[in-house]
Amino acid sequence: MSTADAGSPLYTRPAELLQHLIRYDTTNPPGNEAACIAYILFHLAEAGIPATILARDPARPNLVARLAGRGNAPPLLLYGHVDVVTTAGQSWSHPPFSGDLADGAIWGRGALDMKGGVAMMLAAFLRAAAEGADLPGDVIFAALADEENWGDYGARYLVDEHADLFRGVRYAIGEIGGFTIYIGAQRFYPIMVAEKQGVAITATVRGPGGHGSLPMHGGAMAKLGQLLQRLDQHRLPPHITPVTRMMIEGMANALPPELADHMRPLLDPERTDATLDALGAQGTLFDPLLHNTVNATVVRGGDKENVIPSEITLALDGRLLPGFTPEEMLAELRQLAGDLAEFSAGRSDLTPTAEPDMGLFETLAGILREADPEGTPIPLLLAGVTDGRHLARLGIQTYGYLPMRLPADFPVIQLIHAADERIPVEAVNFGAEAIYQALRRFG
Ligand SMILES: [Zn+2]
Repeated sequence: MSTADAGSPLYTRPAELLQHLIRYDTTNPPGNEAACIAYILFHLAEAGIPATILARDPARPNLVARLAGRGNAPPLLLYGHVDVVTTAGQSWSHPPFSGDLADGAIWGRGALDMKGGVAMMLAAFLRAAAEGADLPGDVIFAALADEENWGDYGARYLVDEHADLFRGVRYAIGEIGGFTIYIGAQRFYPIMVAEKQGVAITATVRGPGGHGSLPMHGGAMAKLGQLLQRLDQHRLPPHITPVTRMMIEGMANALPPELADHMRPLLDPERTDATLDALGAQGTLFDPLLHNTVNATVVRGGDKENVIPSEITLALDGRLLPGFTPEEMLAELRQLAGDLAEFSAGRSDLTPTAEPDMGLFETLAGILREADPEGTPIPLLLAGVTDGRHLARLGIQTYGYLPMRLPADFPVIQLIHAADERIPVEAVNFGAEAIYQALRRFG
């Protein structure tokens, strides 16, 4: 299974731990995380580590445990979610809740997102306890419910109702980051330090109503068509935020000049969009990191085929770069759409700050450089969201750091939320070791 034999302590066999975690079907909704959390609780209890269970709903518990450190550094938080997304309608080579070991990998829903990460964290945490590791500060381990569906039973609930558990925490290790991506032959380890944030935008399109028997030109339907075309054919203005600058410069510095020269113009707003177009498919990684974006997702308007609607609303999934406000996005949309529509912004989780706290970055990057001297750690801005947005409300800076050294042909991004999700056993061991090193060095 791994290099350790079956009689050795569980923390030496993180891939086996992962197999067990996968076998609890925690598909969210409904989540049903209780049995999986109980499994983790059992192993903590066996190691003599007290843990607290906190639940808004008994079927949806969260677990928080703590190891005492020297007190030379603020507590470090490790957190991971044990719920997973659905496997409905997918065709798997191994049953998605089997946790099968095959071809050197553990297969199953959550292998990458993120029971694999929870196994790495728990293994590192158990190891630190078993070895009596000299920790710079307290280490808190949290296994959470409900990340995949708003966090109302998980991170959002804990932050709203039990913030005292995280008092004094400055840095946290969470998901999305630390896995390898390749550009040409060069291996990178993106470490997530910031997330874009979602904001619901509504566009309202108006025009004269009327009888379906009389030709109508320039009405609400026609304006909607024009609006959708503009959104399809144009980007909102480019913005070079500090994280994206660090990320692209970090990549360019490690790449051969002929590749770097194609990438650097992304950081010149006058040339950003033309450079993205020239990069083609490779540019799709960078496009959302350089713009506020919207995708049209829901149209509501008209309810009878012989009545011309006078008002149509279009829902847009808006995503804000760090440091931008919904109002700024609305201004950009008005610039693009002219008088075709009125725009308004609904709920967004928080206004992210433009400047992440990079204080732990070098420590985490240094661990990866030692483990893989040919790899280059870079900061990552995530186009999506994680539970990090909830913890950010407590002033906690999350680093997405589930280190996985992966072969160049391993389709890590494509496997998340997809069929045949799996993780190489070696990658689980790599991550558990890196996180253990982080626990020893974070002060
Ligand atoms: Zn996840």
